[in-house]
Formats: sequence, C-alpha cells, structure tokens
Amino acid sequence: MSTSIHRTVIVGGVAAGMSAATRLRRLDEAMDIVVLERGDHVSFANCGLPYHVGGVIEDRDALLLQTPASLAARFNIDVRTGHEVVAVDRERRVVTVRDRTSGQTTEEAYDALVLATGAAPMRPPIPGVELTYALRDLADMDAILARLNDPQAPSTAIIIGGGFIGLELAENLTHRGLAVTVVELAEHVLPPLDLEMAALVQRRLVESGVRVVTGVAATAVDSDTVTLSNGDSLPADLVIMAAGVVPESALARAAGLDLSERGGIVVDDLQRTSDPSIYAVGDVAVKRDAHSGAGVLVPLAQTANRHGRLVADVITGRTTSAKPVLGSAIVGVFGLTVAATGWNEKRARAEGREIRVIHSHPADHAGYYPGAEVMQLKLVVDAETDLILGAQGVGGSGVDKRIDVIATAIRGGLTASDLADLELTYAPQFGSAKDPVNMLGMIADNMATGVTRTIQWHEIEAEVERGSVLLDVRTRGEYADGTIPTAVNIPVDELRDRFDEIPAGRIVVTCAAGVRGHTATRIIRQLGHDDVVNLDGGYKTFVPAVELRGCCDLLGTMREAASTSS
Ligand code: FAD
Repeated sequence: MSTSIHRTVIVGGVAAGMSAATRLRRLDEAMDIVVLERGDHVSFANCGLPYHVGGVIEDRDALLLQTPASLAARFNIDVRTGHEVVAVDRERRVVTVRDRTSGQTTEEAYDALVLATGAAPMRPPIPGVELTYALRDLADMDAILARLNDPQAPSTAIIIGGGFIGLELAENLTHRGLAVTVVELAEHVLPPLDLEMAALVQRRLVESGVRVVTGVAATAVDSDTVTLSNGDSLPADLVIMAAGVVPESALARAAGLDLSERGGIVVDDLQRTSDPSIYAVGDVAVKRDAHSGAGVLVPLAQTANRHGRLVADVITGRTTSAKPVLGSAIVGVFGLTVAATGWNEKRARAEGREIRVIHSHPADHAGYYPGAEVMQLKLVVDAETDLILGAQGVGGSGVDKRIDVIATAIRGGLTASDLADLELTYAPQFGSAKDPVNMLGMIADNMATGVTRTIQWHEIEAEVERGSVLLDVRTRGEYADGTIPTAVNIPVDELRDRFDEIPAGRIVVTCAAGVRGHTATRIIRQLGHDDVVNLDGGYKTFVPAVELRGCCDLLGTMREAASTSS
C-alpha cells in the first residue's frame, strides 16, 4: 500500500465517486476519506429517475441507495452533501468548498483528489432554453413531477433528443397520458445504432403513439411551442432537453488540468490526470476506446462504477490499470429491448476499416416452445482480422444475453468465427441448440471462408442500377404479399428444377431473413452460376430501413433503373 496518501478527497458522490470511496475504505481502514457532494443526495439511482417520473418505480425513496449517515456508519466516510467544491489549489493541495446552505467557504487538504463530477445535460444556446427541463438528478425529477402534477397539467410534451434518456422519458410520459413528440437532430433515434436497427425502434415508438421527428433541430422554445429548423412549430406544454451530456469539468479546467477537445478530463490508464495527485473517474473522464485506443467519452453507469473502484486500487498502491471501453449499453423502449456494444457499421466505416456485416433474425428460444420472440441481431466484423468490432440487438427477451455474450467475446479477443464454437446453455425454453450467437459465428465463418457472399440493404439500389437481377426465393404467397421492387420469384425449393430460368449476369438473392437466401446462393453457385450474392438479413432488414430513409426515394429509383435497363 502507498504510504504517502493518508487523506483522499472525492468531489461528487454518485456512481464513480461513491464507488471510489467505499472501495477505498474496504482497502484502507486508516485512510481519511471525505466526499463532497454539491447536491442533496449521494449514491442515488439516476438510471431509475425516468421510471419514477412514469410511476413504474412508485417509491421515491427506492432511488436513494445510501445516505451520509449510512455511509458513515458502515464505512466511516465523511460525506458532506450540499457542499460544492469551487476551486482546486494544486500547489497547496487544497480544495475550496462552499457550504450551499450557509454560503461559507472553507478549505480541505488532500493527498489525493478524485474528481467524479459527472456530466451535465447539454443545453444548446437557443432562445427559451431556460424554459426547458432536464433530467440528471432527484431535484430535476422533482421539478418535472411538480409540473406534471400541476393543476394546469401538461397534455403535450416535446423531448429534444432521441437518445437513451430521451426515449426512456418518451415511454414514461406516454404512460402518464401525455402526447409525446421526440425531436432528433440525427437521421434516426438512438444514434449509437445503425439506421436499419434504429428503424425498428422508431417503428415501435410510432406504434406506441409517440411522434418522431428526425433530421431537424429545435431552434427556439416558448411557453407552449417549440420551433424547429425546418420552420415547423409544434405545441408543447412541457419541453425536456435530452440532447446528450457534457463533462462537468469546469473545476479541472480552472485548475489547469489537461482536457480533451470535448471537455473530458484526460487521464492515463491509472485514472491520473495531468497532475499526478489528482484523479478523474466516471462521466467527466476520457476513456480509451477498445478498438482505436483513441480518447472517448462514455457516460455510462457501469464504466463509472468500474473506474471508481479502480481508482481506489490505484490510490492504495494495488497493481491495476483501466481496460479500454466498448460502450456496451441497453435500453427498453415500449417492450423492445435495444442493446449495443462496440462500434456500429457507421463508425467502423468512418474509421476506414474493411468490414463484414451480418444481420440475423433469430428467435430467443426454440420456435416449437411457446412464447418464442424474434430479435434482430447485427454483427460488425473486421474483415482483415475477423475480430468482432461491435454488435447491436433489437427485440424482446434474450437480446441482452446475446449482446452481453458478444461484449465478453470482444473483451476476450475472440474472432467472429469463434462465436460458432461457444458452448452456451441450451434447453428449448431458453435458447436453441444453435444459439443465435453461434449462428452469427457460423455466418461469419462462411463469409471469412468465401462460402457465402453477401451485400447490405443499402447496396441494393446500386445493384439494380448496375443491372443485377433480384431473385426472391421465398414462397409465392410471401412474394405476393410484398417484395423488393423488380425482384422475380423462384422459391428456393424449385430452384434446382428451374435453374435454366436464372438469367446470365449478376444475381442478388433475397428472402425473408437471409437464411433461405444463403441456401439458394449455395445451390446456384454449385450448379455453375458463380456471380450470385445474398441480401444479408433479407426483406426483414431491408423494409424498415428503406421505410425510415424514405422508401419513395429508394424504391422509386430502383423501379426507374429497372425500367431503363430492360
Ligand atoms: P454523476 O452521477 O453525474 O455524479 C456526479 C456528481 O458530482 C453529481 O451528483 C454532482 O452534483 C456532483 N458534482 C459536480 N460538480 C461538483 C462540485 N464542484 N462539487 C461537488 N459536487 C459536484 N447509465 C447506464 O449505464 N444505464 C442506464 O440505464 C442509465 N440511465 C440513466 C438515466 C438518467 C436519467 C441519467 C441522468 C443517467 C443515466 N445513466 C445510465 C448514466 C449514469 O447515470 C452515469 O453514467 C453515471 O451516473 C455517472 O456517474 P458519475 O459519478 O461519473 O457522475
């Protein structure tokens, strides 16, 4: 144990700060530990706040996990709420603390200082921003509840930002009977997902009564409307700003610590800032990306807790170092489970990686056992190394398990093809003998070895333009119910007999989910027609994506291209 650190002062008493404090005590009974928290509460469950707004978590006190008294009793930690650190004197190793009740300032000396000040809701400088609410802590939650319980209760709400917190609020406010609109600047909600995955979420939001407006910014707010960058004006009795968070690093900036371009405190693998006596953890600190090694901001509770624990290890002299982050995250949206880990396709392409992409639509457990629910999974793979870059899942039960298994595989350095050989538990009510994760591995192996060749939904248009023939191998009934414009139909079971009907030139096979398409491409290739590819993820991936992007454009172009080439 390091002997030079006898007194640790921690600024911020929630996920990262309190994890650091309690671990520190478990490792060092003699350490003087002071936690200074500006707000009225420490160790509260911010992740539960939207659900108390919606009434799902009925008891407000359930969100309060610890109190200064309980922390003093069990851990002998000096926790002071209502105390804001307003300055850091690095020379003298003291912080200036303002008691928010009395207004008095005092100084606290430290041997080690841990900045766990978190991230604050972003407030874009638009007219009327002061009329908007945000949700970070219990005080914010109470303010929203007070507005909702007002005699003039709001009936319409606009949520600016369609990220995780925005969508949780959309669901909870809808449950309370408000007409909710989500305004999102990006092309789709949940920007950590790729478009075709987010399309499923957007569909669920709309089916659940939420209006979703994308590709526009809110430009002004007044007492009952929000004006958008496209000129529209939407009615809003309640406006909540959920447009992301920014690291709360003003203290660090004033103290001259190194910050990243986006304002995060730069730390090394031991969570040390540019001043070796000062550490930073949680949302305020920059993390190292698992694939590129670049600095990233990942404002998630799990990382904050892990790094809080880690900094206590460092301070007490234990050998350890921070692991790079994947940003694994999950959210529930009106009964849908939406989870992601690592890079999405957009990010991987932006980084210039050569990638393979796989979509699948497996059931969470054996189809013959009652209650099976279909999910959509997506795997992004580095084409050179076969290493897994990321995964996304949208569906019902079992999505969390698959994404967590893949996150573990990435962390363990497994390749995508290795997923085929993972020995996962199976009985019909829990999974499949070939688990959806195994199936992704088998597809990855087929792709890596050239057994199968695929194209993505967003490449279809270009294929039609270059004159490729779309071959729908589903049944006549499925085909009649709807197909990709210009596709001809030969059901997979008739392919061998009708092989002479397959035109020369490039063939793009489509089916419902990509499975029959794979079999069809194998038949066609083995019968001697080599220029054939399968539409990855099939019609089920294609349709929601083109619906979201504006099917008229894409499908219209395809029809035109087909008529000019014929
Ligand atoms: P914070 O929890 O923000 O705590 C920092 C504390 O520092 C604050 O209480 C602040 O008052 C205090 N502070 C700041 N400056 C000073 C100062 N100068 N002096 C004294 N005190 C100061 N993450 C997930 O992984 N899953 C989820 O489901 C999830 N849901 C969320 C839902 C909501 C509504 C919110 C707001 C966040 C959610 N998060 C979720 C994110 C998660 O809560 C954060 O990643 C996590 O709380 C970060 O912990 P932290 O300790 O770094 O910062």
